[in-house]
Amino acid sequence: TTGLGASWAVDWMQRAQAVVSANRVDLIDLDRAIGDGDHGENMDRGFTAVSGKLATLAPQTPAEVLKTVATTLMSTVGGAAGPLYGTAFLRASKAADGELDGAGVAAALEAAVEGIQARGKAEPGEKTMVDAWLPAARAARAAASDGAAPAAVLRAAADAAASGAQATEPMVATKGRASYLGQRSAGHRDPGAQSSALLLAAAAEAAEA
Ligand code: ADP
Ligand code: MG
Ligand code: MG
Repeated sequence: TTGLGASWAVDWMQRAQAVVSANRVDLIDLDRAIGDGDHGENMDRGFTAVSGKLATLAPQTPAEVLKTVATTLMSTVGGAAGPLYGTAFLRASKAADGELDGAGVAAALEAAVEGIQARGKAEPGEKTMVDAWLPAARAARAAASDGAAPAAVLRAAADAAASGAQATEPMVATKGRASYLGQRSAGHRDPGAQSSALLLAAAAEAAEA
């Protein structure tokens, strides 16, 4: 089994741009229900910028790609999600050493969620993107410990993120803009958890391609 290299990371970001763009209206609708309605716009702008930036570079490692993603998202996404995703990708880039095997994928996802929590101080159950990333990182670590190949590790992470995003629906938000709604935030999926699940699905698809 070969590790995931720069071409995987670039393919991930092309797929991320496509899936975010295709789900732009859905993410806007989710954020309109419990926030200010800009999450789809913010993410589409950010990943379009990432895709454009990567097209001008010839990155040699996943770490180089992830660092470019981090700086581009930080300067283009804005709102709460920009710094959170920026920190996630920056930490993942620092954790990514050369080509990624299964354990390397798990380490990068763990670093990403540590960054999100360091930045946003959200614990699981507060109806944020942490509710997608934390189960994803845990599932990735479990799969890697079982000796799974990187694509299978990412598939486990993506599936856990999808379940995690769905599980935010009944939650009452206690962090971020949705927390202003209190109990009225229940009954809607968190937009950042949903976009996180889309991004991790794109990562798995790129690894399976
Ligand atoms: P804004 O709320 O500033 O308009 P976005 O709409 O782009 O920003 O992003 C909102 C998403 O950010 C939420 O759905 C949630 O997943 C995430 N988020 C907000 N605050 C936090 C936090 N403290 N920790 C983790 N994620 C958060
Ligand atoms: Mg918003
Ligand atoms: Mg906003």
